[in-house]
This record gives sequence, structure tokens and C-alpha cells, in this order.
Amino acid sequence: MTKFLHKVYRILLEEYGYRHKWYGDTKDEIIIGAILTQNTNWLNVEKALANLRVLNLLSLPSIAKMKPEKLAFLIRPSGYHNQKAKRLIYIANSLTTDILPDKPVYLREYLLSLKGIGPETADCIMLYAYGFPYFVIDTYTTRIFSRMGLCSDIVSYQQLQSWFMQYLEPDIKVYSEYHALLINLAKTACLKTPKCKECPLQELCMYAINNPVEAKQ
Ligand code: SF4
Repeated sequence: MTKFLHKVYRILLEEYGYRHKWYGDTKDEIIIGAILTQNTNWLNVEKALANLRVLNLLSLPSIAKMKPEKLAFLIRPSGYHNQKAKRLIYIANSLTTDILPDKPVYLREYLLSLKGIGPETADCIMLYAYGFPYFVIDTYTTRIFSRMGLCSDIVSYQQLQSWFMQYLEPDIKVYSEYHALLINLAKTACLKTPKCKECPLQELCMYAINNPVEAKQ
């Protein structure tokens, strides 16, 4: 399975190229982006981040000091802005005042204890902001790998993450790229209605093999 997962990775990398800068340039920006991206697409998050950047407010200490109404106004493009503003201020306060655990396993537990941070957001922060090798699972990952015949479409977050981490050695660069590449695949070919003809994985995919009309002739 390790070889197979590396093969998938190589194919996607060859097709789409490196995409690892997609989440932000600084630790704070990555954390803020990871929270803003909940229930919206990245383009909307970029608009919200740009509003904060232009006012020099794109940092956790700045967010921690803001009034919810002002932050909500600035992050409006990301949707659910009132709720996200309150959460962001609370999370920024926690991360800037609490003593954070050193050990990754305890840091992840701490992140999960904060209201508004679920497993996907926690692992995005662990991987992209703090540089610890936690494989990020999202609905796109489940969609792609269930169609490929490698997991159930109702597999739990924990089960699928454990499966990836069992077979892929803990490599921050590979984990970062892999997640970003899967997002790209899900947005270009493995859509809700898959476009297998345009997919670089079609020869490895059970769905495409079982639905040859949808794959290349
Ligand atoms: S071949 Fe089709 S179903 Fe399989 S991963 Fe690609 S787009 Fe999705």
C-alpha cells in the first residue's frame, strides 16, 4: 500500500505541480486561514485575509485585541462572519496566553479542546503552522479514496487518518503536498459528479474501471 500511495502522489505531483504555499506564509496567517476556511472556499478566505493584511491585523495578537464587530466586518467575505469573529478572538486569545504543550500529541489535544477547532482544522494547524506530520483528512480525501476502492465512503476521520499514517512515513513535505494535491484533484476532476476522463488517476481507480464510459477510451 505504501508503494501505491506514493504512486498516487507522484502522478498528482506530475499533473498539478507543487502547491504547498496554498495555506499562507506565516504561522499566524495559517492558523487564521485554517479557521476562516471552515464552510467556505479558499477564494473567500483570501479576500478576508487580504482585508486583515492591509490593516496590518493579520496576526494572533492583533486579532486577540479586536472587537468582534470590527473583526466580523473585515472577515465578512469568508461567511458566518459573526460566529467566526467570536471564535477567532477566543482562539487567538487562547493561543497567545496559554502555555502550549511541547509534545505534538498534547498540542493536538489542546487544539481540539478549543471551541471551533475540530480534527481537520487541528491537523491543518499541526501540519502547516507547527510543522508536525499529521495527515489532514477532509471530505475530498474520503470522496477520492472511497471511489478508488480503498475505503468506505462513511469511514471516520480517525480511521482514514490512521490508515494514511500507517502507510506513509511521517514526512511534512509529502503530507503537506498530498493534502493540497487531493484538494486540487477534487476541484478539477473528482467532483461530486466525477469527470474521470480528465483524471490522472483513472487507471488506478475502481470507480473509473467499473464505469468505463466515464473514463478515457
Ligand atoms: S478516476 Fe474518476 S472517480 Fe476516480 S479519482 Fe479520478 S475523477 Fe475520481
